[in-house]
Amino acid sequence: MNDLFNIDDDILKKSDEALRLCSDRFKNIDEITEYNQLKVQKAFIDNKISESYFASSTGYGYGDRGRETLDKVWAQVFGAESALVRHNFTCGTHTLSTALFGVLRPGDKMLCVSGTPYDTIHNVIGITGQGMGSLKDFGVEYSQVELKNDRLDNKAIEEAVDDSVTMVYIQRSRGYELRPSLSVEEIGKVSEIAKKKNPDVIVMADNCYGEFVQTHEPTQLGADLVAGSLIKNAGGGIAQTGGYIAGRADLVEKCSYRLTTPGLGGEVGATLGHNRELYMGLFYAPHTVGEALKSAVYISALYELFGYSITPKYNEPRYDIVQSLGLENEESLVAFCQGIQSGSPIDSFLLPEPWDMPGYDSKVVMAAGAFTLGSSIELSADAPIREPYYAWIQGGLNFHSAKICALLAAQRMKDRGLLK
Ligand SMILES: *Cc1c(COP(=O)(O)O)cnc(C)c1O
Repeated sequence: MNDLFNIDDDILKKSDEALRLCSDRFKNIDEITEYNQLKVQKAFIDNKISESYFASSTGYGYGDRGRETLDKVWAQVFGAESALVRHNFTCGTHTLSTALFGVLRPGDKMLCVSGTPYDTIHNVIGITGQGMGSLKDFGVEYSQVELKNDRLDNKAIEEAVDDSVTMVYIQRSRGYELRPSLSVEEIGKVSEIAKKKNPDVIVMADNCYGEFVQTHEPTQLGADLVAGSLIKNAGGGIAQTGGYIAGRADLVEKCSYRLTTPGLGGEVGATLGHNRELYMGLFYAPHTVGEALKSAVYISALYELFGYSITPKYNEPRYDIVQSLGLENEESLVAFCQGIQSGSPIDSFLLPEPWDMPGYDSKVVMAAGAFTLGSSIELSADAPIREPYYAWIQGGLNFHSAKICALLAAQRMKDRGLLK
């Protein structure tokens, strides 16, 4: 390795030790990857995917068989009745917003049961951003059940779900919080509890960062609707943009009327040559997610050996690809992010610096050297410059590439006298 990158022996020794610690977890990740790969492959075979499905469509995009069959493949993989997979979902927030506006009506009530949802959803719900055309502006009520000791509070959820609740909303990933991610089984349990109280309730999961981390998706254990981004897990690092919704056929149909128009729904939408990369992205997704998970587990083990507090730990359960690392001070956060950037395949020569990013209440430093702008299935790290000085790290298209970035980050911290 030192022919190519200079890493000090003491850091490499820790790396070897970290790899030993990771071996059981890596085996487990390989098993999940293999199962998910077969699941995807079977769906391709069952739906008789052929090269002709990659053909581009223009204009209205009527009768685009590639697009129509991609929805079917996706539905099979997610164990759902139906799916809507489109490059013209601009991001995860747009996809989740489409799903929420698609199924909720004035007077309905949305209940989030996993505490405060992901930041960008606040404007959609109307927690902030009233007047922008939020759900609240359209008369959709909102309330939430807080987590208890960082876990779902099933008792409080049971009490909160009554006939007035239209949708129970749950976020699988920790997002940028320090709480643990939620397992598909935990989501299944909430669905069961909620539907016992109100059989008509719609259970929707924000599945961002969660796809293919386990062998099952929330739709297979009781969720009626899931949505996520294609520049995270589900696009396999191949999709350049887009999102997906999957779930009950009647609900996905309503979402399609929101994406385009009532009446047209999913029957229109030129694919402009994107079909191939969306198919290929799904095909790669289980493997890419496995690599991202291995990267997270390794970084967790390595930095724990250095003496940092880190969550989740390498041997703790994890149900998303996000890793957070307590680096204790601004200098270390910045050096870490600069080290990650320096090993990135793209934009390695840029030096990330903290800046006042719009929408944040403190400065933020970010490392991202990705083939797709903002893709967080590719290795990226970002850190608000404030107590408790945590960096959030996710992604890694392949383990070896992420590993050298993690080592370069440690080396950079060491060179500045910061590494513990
Ligand atoms: C990333 C993310 C979103 C929003 O997706 P964007 O693509 O950033 O708009 C929503 N929820 C969770 C849990 C996420 O991780």
